[in-house]
Amino acid sequence: MNSKIFPTDKILQRADKEQLLKQKGIAIWFTGLSGAGKTTIAIALERELYKKGLLTQLLDGDNIRSGINSNLGFSDVDRIENIRRIAEVTKLFVECGIITICCFISPTDEIRTIAKNIIGKNDFVEVFVNTPLEICEKRDVKGLYAKARSGEIKDFTGIDAPFEKPENPTIEITDTWSIEECVKKILAKINL
Ligand code: ADP
Repeated sequence: MNSKIFPTDKILQRADKEQLLKQKGIAIWFTGLSGAGKTTIAIALERELYKKGLLTQLLDGDNIRSGINSNLGFSDVDRIENIRRIAEVTKLFVECGIITICCFISPTDEIRTIAKNIIGKNDFVEVFVNTPLEICEKRDVKGLYAKARSGEIKDFTGIDAPFEKPENPTIEITDTWSIEECVKKILAKINL
């Protein structure tokens, strides 16, 4: 960074912004199979935080893959680059004091560790939406499981690509809870 443009002693700090917003920046990272409920729960959580007067930013496959990562595919190299950019963007929001809610399948320990290391472990809350494959497949919200079963889509997580369950998530959500219950449990755990 050019210190003539950004003199480090004068630049506003994260703490200044958190004070302005009266909140702490944090990343709430949802992981789980496609159709597990990550986005549905995240949307409900964001609305609840909004009601409390808290500023949030929701990032998911739709707004990221159609924008900043539109040039990336699903090769191993591209998946790593995808997550690296997502985590770097998340970090910028978090350092601005914003509660950043990220919804990405993030199927492997490697991918979640990359995200956690970039964002910083103190700012990273991992929420595992542990909905069984059978239920996700039955929901088939986007029709992707049917396409994966017929071979139209290759390397689909849960069908012909692995999902490694997180060993030690901050919060684990099961499909037997209602969306409201999930939101309540997350809020109770992270104490925003
Ligand atoms: P993901 O973001 O993990 O791919 P979505 O949120 O897009 O999943 O889809 C999950 C689907 O499951 C939605 O249609 C949602 O309405 C439904 N659903 C049913 N019960 C629940 C629940 N308890 N929690 C979250 N989603 C649920």
